[in-house]
Amino acid sequence: MKAYVITVGNEILKGRTINTNAAHIGRVLTYAGYDVIRMVVVPDDIDEIVWAFRDGISRADLVVSTGGLGPTFDDKTVEGLAKALNLELELNQEAYSMVKGKYDRLGVELTRERVKMAYMPRGARPLPNPVGTAPGVYLEYSGKRIIALPGVPAEMEAILDEVLPQIRVPGRYYYEESVTIRGIMESTFAPIVSELMRANAGSVYIKSHPRGIEISKPTLEIEVSASGSSEDEVKARVKEVIRRIMEEARRINNECC
Ligand code: ATP
Ligand code: MG
Repeated sequence: MKAYVITVGNEILKGRTINTNAAHIGRVLTYAGYDVIRMVVVPDDIDEIVWAFRDGISRADLVVSTGGLGPTFDDKTVEGLAKALNLELELNQEAYSMVKGKYDRLGVELTRERVKMAYMPRGARPLPNPVGTAPGVYLEYSGKRIIALPGVPAEMEAILDEVLPQIRVPGRYYYEESVTIRGIMESTFAPIVSELMRANAGSVYIKSHPRGIEISKPTLEIEVSASGSSEDEVKARVKEVIRRIMEEARRINNECC
C-alpha cells in the first residue's frame, strides 16, 4: 500500500519552519506498513493544494496532509480538498459540536473564523483533536483514504495516533535496525552493501549514512530495513544482514590495521 504526504504552508517553503511534521508522518506510516512514495510541500494557495491532493490520490492509497486547518484566511486545506474531489464544502454537524464544545468550555464566542473549522467536504468524518480546536478530516474517496491534519505538531501527532488503528496495513510489518562501524570509509564498504543487497534479492534495504569524515575518521551508520507479512521473519532477515555487516567490518579492519 502506498502513501503520499502533503505539507501545506508558506513558512515551510521559506525555511522558517523545519518540516518535522512530514518526517513524523513518514515514520509513522512506514511503521504502519505503508510505502511512502512521495512528500510534497505546497504554499497556502488553493490551486497548489488542489494539485497536491489530486496528484496524491492518483498515485497512492492513502494521502495525509498537514497544515492549513486553522481559523485564519490562509488556512485553505479543507477547501482545496473539497475542490480537488469536486465535493461540496458543508458544515459538518459532528465537527461543529466538537468545535463548539471546545469554545463553550472556554466561555468564548463562536465566531465565523471558529465555525470555519467545522466545514468539511461532504461525506467527510471529523477526527477529534484532543490537544487543539481544529478537528482533523477523514475521507474515503473511490477506494482511497485521505486524512487532513493540523500543522501544529502536537495536534498533528495526537490525531494521527488516534486514527492509526484504522489505517494500519493489516498483516504488513516493517523492521529497521542500525549498526555503527568505525575506521572504514563509505567507499570501501560500498561494494559490500551492494553485494548484500543483491544476495537478498531486494528483500532488504541497506543504506550507509556517513557520520564521520571519510578520509581521516570514517564512521558509518548502516541502516538495514525490511518489510513483510511475518513480523518474526522480517526481524530475522534484518538481523542476519546486520550480522553479516559486522562480520565484514571486522574482516576489513583486521586486514587493514
Ligand atoms: P493549523 O492547521 O493548526 O492551522 P497551520 O499549519 O495552518 O496549522 P500554522 O499557523 O501554519 O498553522 O502553524 C502553526 C505552527 O505549527 C507553526 O508556527 C509551526 O511552528 C508549526 N508547524 C506548522 N507546520 C509545520 C510542519 N510541517 N512541521 C513542523 N511544524 C509545523
Ligand atoms: Mg499554515
